[in-house]
Amino acid sequence: MDFKVVERSPFARIARMVLKSNNVAMVLGKSIHLSGVSREDFIKDEGWLAHELCHIEQFREHGFFRFLWLYLCESMRVGYYNNKYEVEARIAGMKHRKFQNPAKRAAAVVDPTGIPLPGDSKRKA
Ligand SMILES: [Zn+2]
Repeated sequence: MDFKVVERSPFARIARMVLKSNNVAMVLGKSIHLSGVSREDFIKDEGWLAHELCHIEQFREHGFFRFLWLYLCESMRVGYYNNKYEVEARIAGMKHRKFQNPAKRAAAVVDPTGIPLPGDSKRKA
């Protein structure tokens, strides 16, 4: 898949402050913006990577501004956790879990958050 990873992104940094999280990945179009996590560590986390790649696919499918709008509406309607775009990304991320040991699996869970932004945070293992 065609994508870009932006380390130390100011957008992800804002999301990180809002989420009060150590590490955040957020997708804008074809770019995965990171804050508090290196490109290397992020890529190594297959479940997390698969989750964010699913959001890239959603941006591609719906169009940049349209997807932001749909995502926002969906978040306001049902919240982050039940947002259908998050549910889809979570399922994409979990496909990798069967290859992981249980300790790594527990560490790879992307925390649900309350903000209406395509941002995902993860607690430090
Ligand atoms: Zn997500």
